[in-house]
Amino acid sequence: MKGFAMLKIGETGWIEKEKPTAGEYDAVVKPLAVSPCTSDIHTVFEGGVGERHNMMLGHEAVGEVVEVGDKVKDFKAGDRVVVPAITPDWNTREIQNGRHQHSGGMLAGWKFSNIKDGVFAEFFHVNNADMNLAHLPEDIPLEAAVMITDMMTTGFHGTEMADVQFGDTVAVIGIGPVGLMAVASANLRGAGRIIAVGSRPVCIDVAQKYGATDIVSYKNGDTVEQIMELTNGNGVDATIIAGGSVEIASSAVKITAPNGTIANINYFGSGDNVPIPRAEWGCGMAHKTITGGLCPGGRVRMEKLVELIKYNRLDPALMATHVFKGLDKVEEALMLMKDKPRDLIKPVVLVN
Ligand code: NDP
Ligand code: ZN
Repeated sequence: MKGFAMLKIGETGWIEKEKPTAGEYDAVVKPLAVSPCTSDIHTVFEGGVGERHNMMLGHEAVGEVVEVGDKVKDFKAGDRVVVPAITPDWNTREIQNGRHQHSGGMLAGWKFSNIKDGVFAEFFHVNNADMNLAHLPEDIPLEAAVMITDMMTTGFHGTEMADVQFGDTVAVIGIGPVGLMAVASANLRGAGRIIAVGSRPVCIDVAQKYGATDIVSYKNGDTVEQIMELTNGNGVDATIIAGGSVEIASSAVKITAPNGTIANINYFGSGDNVPIPRAEWGCGMAHKTITGGLCPGGRVRMEKLVELIKYNRLDPALMATHVFKGLDKVEEALMLMKDKPRDLIKPVVLVN
């Protein structure tokens, strides 16, 4: 089979590999729709997770099951499925501590395009199919469904970690697709004011549709000053970081009020340290919680996110600004994610 791979840091290309086979609890899936992620860019062009050779890229896919192992109970060849970006081993010690993303070691629940071949291929392997796949209802369009796998679960995790409450003032720094899902989930959780930070007009438009009440462009002046002015010097209850480089953490601490939470869902692809400003952290005593996490994966999470689309709570397909046809377009789609033209939110490749 062929697939689009990271050949080494800084280099991509099409390669041939053996078609994977399913272990007794596993499945082999052929993609129906895939989407490149900014994380693929950090991985291949910034070496975010270190060197990798000839590893298929991609971790966002919905597909059709083509083969299952003997012990798989709930899925069979022909089923349409949502495949989460995070596919942990569900029989490890870490699971009992409630940290499935780190089952088997830090970030080890993230397997596709990190520790095994990803989904930008004619076929891909899914471990522990009964726990990692979710059925995809026929009436959910593929452009919406593919957003569940990573964008929705990640953006939603930002507001979960920030523990957004009814009436809270929330800042979302970065409104690419990940930040837009943080905006949408803050809205679903009942935030009062949602301040969205970004500059691409297409993202601003969708942010407003998803519930942003205020827009701040970091290109129109200092983000911290603008948000402190908007909030009469009080700062916000919760900040979700979904864009920018490591320095953005410093701005996030500055704009978050004492007792507030800063939740990072950004992938800091380069830099050795993440700065925390001493004074605005109350000399270490401001009760500002700083957290950050890899998105949740697994079957139940995907099933719940499917419900939100099925019952019209959210339409993530608004983010699919560039839709391609044919697996061979994955290269073009990935390069869009690298270059980030002003009219882009998220490219989707429909495989058939
Ligand atoms: P995008 O590049 O599409 O969006 C980034 C956003 O940040 C844009 O709105 C951009 O503004 C804004 N931005 C850039 N620089 C600054 C700055 N200095 N100050 C304020 N805002 C800024 O990225 P994605 O939405 O695709 O992904 C966001 C991050 O999430 C990535 O690092 C990605 O790797 C990570 N990620 C993390 C996951 C997890 O599990 N935690 C899973 C998936 C992705 P502009 O409008 O000008 O472009
Ligand atoms: Zn991703």
